[in-house]
Amino acid sequence: MNIPYLSDMSIQIPFDNSYARLPDHLFAKVEPVEVADPALITFNRRLANELGITMEGRAEDAELAQLFSGNALPTGAEPIAQLYAGHQFGHWNPQLGDGRALLLGEAVSSSGRYDIQLKGSGPTPFSRNGDGRAWLGPVLREYVVSEAMHALGVPTTRALAAVSTGQPVLRETVLPGAILTRTATSHIRVGTFQILAARQDLEGLKALFEYALARHYPQASDPLAFLNEVIKSQAKLITKWMSFGFIHGVMNTDNCTISGETIDYGPCAFMDHFHPMQVFSSIDRQSRYAYGNQPDIIVWNMAQLATSLVPLMPDTDVAVKEFTEAIHAMPAMIAENWKQAFAAKIGIQNLQDGDEALIQELLSLMAKQNTDFTNVFRALTNGTAQDQFTDRSAFSGWETQWKTRIASETDPVATMTAANPYIIPRNHQIEAMIQSAVDDDFAPFHRLNEALENPFVTDETFKDLTRPPAEEEKVHATFCGT
Ligand code: AMP
Ligand code: MG
Repeated sequence: MNIPYLSDMSIQIPFDNSYARLPDHLFAKVEPVEVADPALITFNRRLANELGITMEGRAEDAELAQLFSGNALPTGAEPIAQLYAGHQFGHWNPQLGDGRALLLGEAVSSSGRYDIQLKGSGPTPFSRNGDGRAWLGPVLREYVVSEAMHALGVPTTRALAAVSTGQPVLRETVLPGAILTRTATSHIRVGTFQILAARQDLEGLKALFEYALARHYPQASDPLAFLNEVIKSQAKLITKWMSFGFIHGVMNTDNCTISGETIDYGPCAFMDHFHPMQVFSSIDRQSRYAYGNQPDIIVWNMAQLATSLVPLMPDTDVAVKEFTEAIHAMPAMIAENWKQAFAAKIGIQNLQDGDEALIQELLSLMAKQNTDFTNVFRALTNGTAQDQFTDRSAFSGWETQWKTRIASETDPVATMTAANPYIIPRNHQIEAMIQSAVDDDFAPFHRLNEALENPFVTDETFKDLTRPPAEEEKVHATFCGT
């Protein structure tokens, strides 16, 4: 035991660590490894409040930096690294696990139960060849993008704090180290089930299943009902990604939650100009996780979950039959959600025949003319969309048809304003923000966070952040956070 517990702290976290009470081969007890000179970059006080974290007065930055760097542990924390496996780019990796993250424990309040996890806190038994650390860039990227996703109404892990460690991290070059504290309704992944099924650890699998059921879907009672709930949550989630032009970039089964929250903001990106098969991730060489493939990949991931649940069923043949039906029903469910979501983006609440064709026609015009995904939809709300198109006449034809159609909708502008954000975190702004932070200027980081807090509200102060990148500003590839 090296890391001290701070008992005289002004900050109190209402811990109740249920995962640490599961069979102990599901995790490893690990402590964070001390860092040289932690400094607080930011602390999300509003989120802390929601999680029932209390502070006597205003906790000092130095104390928060101690805590969220892992140099001290809050009373009640029981740090563990979680075990999981996963399919990475379709290839089975029999063991992954938290290689650079530690679950401090679960904060329980009237808002519910939330994992509090440090990311970048040092090596664990699951680090393989990694150093267990993170550098500043991915920490700030995850902070900004996950909080922006939350503000957009997308289920996601959230960011509670970011600290710099005062320690260099060696990647291709030497970079400043940092640690993110993130929260989630849990960090249980498809890969958490997969590893136990692959090891034929029926007892562990049962324990995890019962735990996940009680924590996330208490209304379900058996593996099939559970699978259907996860399918429903993930279908909703992927539809939200699609509707905001979000590309996750690394939809491996270890990055796919049971809760239906977005997790792992490595090489993710929001599209600027619309292309149905856009890819940013530098490691996604076969475009497996392209924008337009996401609805198919999530079905594939759910099939992996289903496979892992089979041993929990009394009759394998029946299980395979029922699970297969559940998986086969998923594409239609996603298609239906997608239609609703994109109809709202063009002001339609009550779907009619022909609406889908209208949506598809707009998307194909956008793809042909390389228009900005976010700005075209937002411009529909104020009648300026034609300015987004170079061939205005092609758009005008569509617009005439569309106006006729939405004449029968009640308040289409309100529908569109709620579905089409004014602002999203754009890649080139994120890259510029990271560059400034590396040069010790955190003002762009704070400004981005502020700008993204109310993404559906037009705010001229942040107009510059809504501009698509100029050719030379375009980010063509994003990189994993490792
Ligand atoms: P990710 O691509 O972030 O989902 O990570 C995939 C796996 O690699 C997970 O098991 C991570 O914990 C592990 N990993 C990623 N980066 C590091 C690192 N710097 N040190 C140790 N393990 C890491
Ligand atoms: Mg991951």
